[in-house]
Order: sequence, then C-alpha cells, then structure tokens
Amino acid sequence: MRCNICYLPIQEITSKETCPRCFNEFHRDHFAAWLLSHDYCPMCREPLSDAFREELRPKTENERKRLEQSLARLEGIGDMFKHLESKQKKRIMAQRSREFGIERTGFKDYLKVAFPVILLVLAIFVIVIAINE
Ligand SMILES: [Zn+2]
Ligand SMILES: [Zn+2]
Repeated sequence: MRCNICYLPIQEITSKETCPRCFNEFHRDHFAAWLLSHDYCPMCREPLSDAFREELRPKTENERKRLEQSLARLEGIGDMFKHLESKQKKRIMAQRSREFGIERTGFKDYLKVAFPVILLVLAIFVIVIAINE
C-alpha cells in the first residue's frame, strides 16, 4: 500500500492512517500535516469531523516537533499539498459548472457578441457613405 499524499510505500502498519470516508490510506504524519491546514480528505474531499482531526493533531510540544522533523525529511511536501489542492479546485469548478449549467466562455461566445457589433458598424458605414453621396 502507498500513501496517497507522498506516493511512497507505507512500511509500518502503526504509521498508517485511513480516511474514515473513502478508506484511502496515508502516512499518519502526512495526513496529520494535511489536516493542520485543511478540514477535508485530500482524496475524497469529504469534510472530516472535528473529532477525527483532533485525534491526529499534535497535542504536545514533543509531538509537534516529531511531526515537523518527519515532514522535513520529505522534500517538496508543500508542492504535493498544492497539487492535491489544485485537483480540489478543478473538481469544485467542474461541480459548480454542472450544478449551474455554466460553461466556459469559448470562441463561439465571443462570436455571438462580436457578430451583431460588426453588423452594426457596417450598417453605420453604409449609411454614412449613402448620406455623403
Ligand atoms: Zn506519505
Ligand atoms: Zn477520504
């Protein structure tokens, strides 16, 4: 089994934590670090209960230090978090689009606006020429 944050194998069963919603597995430290600044699971994006987050939160100064040391060993965890967050952003945007029927503005939408404007400008041009003659 691999941790869904760092994608490295989880060696010891004791250092494993499972999301109670989607049952994806993580290194306990990596999940704990994620939950310090997020209240949802990085995989299923479901909100996690305060009780669950509290359980993973370092409670003593020693626990906090140990967590920081463990994270310092893992290079680029900030980037991993950003990557997981950007997936979140995309997913939320897609969901909102489906909910409200919003589609991305494409070239066609610009044409819909531009076409009448071009027609109007042409009409004025033709009228101006007709008056001058
Ligand atoms: Zn990990
Ligand atoms: Zn989950």
